[in-house]
Amino acid sequence: MLKVENLSVRYMQRFSPPVLAVDRVNFQVEEGEMVGLVGESGSGKSTLGLAIMKLVSPSGKIVGGRILLNGRDLVPLSEKEMRFVRGREISMVFQDPMTSLDPLMRIGDHLIETILTHEKISKKEAKERAIKLLQDVGISPDRFYDYPHQMSGGMRQRVMIALALALNPKLVIADEPTTALDVIVQDQIIDLFKNLRNQFRVAIVMISHDLALELEATEKMAVMYGGWIMEFSRSVDIAKDPLHPYTKALLKAIPNIELNDQKLISIPGHPPDLSNPPKGCRFHPRCPYAEDLCREKEPPVHVIDGRYVKCWLFGSDRR
Ligand code: SF4
Repeated sequence: MLKVENLSVRYMQRFSPPVLAVDRVNFQVEEGEMVGLVGESGSGKSTLGLAIMKLVSPSGKIVGGRILLNGRDLVPLSEKEMRFVRGREISMVFQDPMTSLDPLMRIGDHLIETILTHEKISKKEAKERAIKLLQDVGISPDRFYDYPHQMSGGMRQRVMIALALALNPKLVIADEPTTALDVIVQDQIIDLFKNLRNQFRVAIVMISHDLALELEATEKMAVMYGGWIMEFSRSVDIAKDPLHPYTKALLKAIPNIELNDQKLISIPGHPPDLSNPPKGCRFHPRCPYAEDLCREKEPPVHVIDGRYVKCWLFGSDRR
C-alpha cells in the first residue's frame, strides 16, 4: 500500500551547507503490516516519517523520489490536497502526547472536534464514535470528560492513538510512540498497536531508536544510518542473521538479561555530519570491515533472498 521510491529530503541551514537527511531511500509497507524504521539519532528516520506525511519543517524539502500510497504519488500534491490525505489515509502518532493535546480541552472534545472537522455527521454520532474509539484503545468511557493532565502518560498516548485512528486511516506512522513511557507501559502500547493492526488491518510504520522493541513489535524493519537505509528485511531475519555491519553492531549493543557475563559492545565513533558526510560508505569510519573500496565508493544495494543490504561485502560487483 505504501511504496517509497528514491526519496530524498534536504534541509537548508543558514550558516552551514545543506543537509541531505534522507538520501534516495526505498522501502514498502503492505496492508496490515507493522514495519520498523530504526537507527540512531540523526539517522533520518523521523524526517522520513514526516516526509511521508509531507510535514517536514519549513527549512526542509523533498528534493527527489516518490511516495506512492495505493498507487498515488503524494509528492506533487498541494498542501490543500494533503489535508484530505492526512487523517483519512495516513495519520501520525508523536512521541510526546502532552505537546499534541490541548491542555484546556477535554479528551472527548478532542476526538469529537477531529471527527467533525473532516466528516459531515451529527455531534451525537461523533460522540458515539469518540466513545467507541476510546474503548478500542482501552480507555473507559467514563474518562471522556477528563483533561489530559488527569491521565497518565500511557493513557495520553492511547488518546493520541485514538485520535490517529479517528478517521479510519489505512496507515499510521508512529514516531517514537513509547520513548517517553516506562517499560511496562511501553509493552502495553506495543500490544495495543498489534491488536489494532489485527482488528482494523491498519498498516503501522513504527519509528524508534530501540532495536529490541522494533524486533519484538514489527514484521519488517528498515535500519537507517546517515540518511540511508542500510538493511531492509523481515525482522525475524534481522534478529537471527543480520547482514549489514551496522545492524550487527546495533544487535551487539542490546542487553540480554539471560546472559550474566554479557559485555555490551558500543559502536565506536559518532554518526556522520550530514552536511559533510564521509566519502564512500557513510558507515566506514565506524565499521570494523571497512576496506579501501568502502572509503572511496558508495556501496550499492544488493538483494539477497528478498533482503536489501547496502554494503560492499555482498554481491559480485566490487571493482
Ligand atoms: Fe562496512 Fe564497507 Fe559495508 Fe560500509 S560498505 S558497511 S564500510 S563493509
